[in-house]
Amino acid sequence: MSKKLQGKRALVTGGSRGIGAAIAKRLAADGADVVITYAGNHDGAKTSVAAIEAEGVKGKAIQADAADAEAVRRAVDEAAASLGGIDILVHNAGVAEFAPLGGESLETYRRVFGVNVEGVLAGTVAALPHLSDGARVILVSSVSGFTAGFAGNSVYGASKAAASMFAKAWAHDLAPRGILVNAIQPGPVGTDMNPDEGEFADQIRALTVLKRYGRPEEIAGVASFLASDDASYITGATIDVGGGIFV
Ligand code: NAP
Repeated sequence: MSKKLQGKRALVTGGSRGIGAAIAKRLAADGADVVITYAGNHDGAKTSVAAIEAEGVKGKAIQADAADAEAVRRAVDEAAASLGGIDILVHNAGVAEFAPLGGESLETYRRVFGVNVEGVLAGTVAALPHLSDGARVILVSSVSGFTAGFAGNSVYGASKAAASMFAKAWAHDLAPRGILVNAIQPGPVGTDMNPDEGEFADQIRALTVLKRYGRPEEIAGVASFLASDDASYITGATIDVGGGIFV
């Protein structure tokens, strides 16, 4: 029996660890060839490519700073050349920094918006000539883009609100090509960005209905669904995968 993403060609940004590595592995397990990008974690990238290839599909890693539009364009072109086109584009690479209003610097804003917003825009524009008709674009947003939740979340939250708005706006732009664009907004997921231990984690966990952190694989399953034929009538949506946080 053929796998549900058999023959699909996927590019996952920030695929060297955390949620992105889980998405890359899951798309591969479902039959897609997968190229990942990463910032500087060569070991993580190697491990992730090995996990992709262990599923019997093609894997490749490209180092590219998501905040550098030219590097992003080169990476997208290289990924498309290696895959032969792009059917699934997952914008996962992201950075989070929190500071009270007035405590954040312009550098913080530039770093967070550079990766989380400009990188996503530059990557999508670069992918336009490579995306197949009927392709899927999936943005990893955050519950922080939907609700501020706590003090200090303004810059990161605004960057993630932008991702959800990109999904809505690009759904219109790309519908004529049959390309569906959606976002996932994870709640707390145990990764380097948001470790599932310590006082902060205890407070955050208590805010979820399920009283636990999510696992990267639980986000990856939703990404795989959005990439599949089962999601053929979903576009412009932001899917909450947050264990009920802030409901
Ligand atoms: P993570 O563990 O910190 O991993 C971040 C990934 O992004 C790594 O692969 C990293 O590459 C890559 N990356 C970071 N900066 C980059 C840059 N400038 N250029 C290219 N790649 C870059 O984070 P995560 O928790 O898996 O988060 C993944 C996504 O989910 C992010 O967009 C985040 O905002 C979102 N999210 C996370 C949570 C959570 O609780 N964890 C909740 C909501 C949303 P290197 O390994 O090379 O550094």
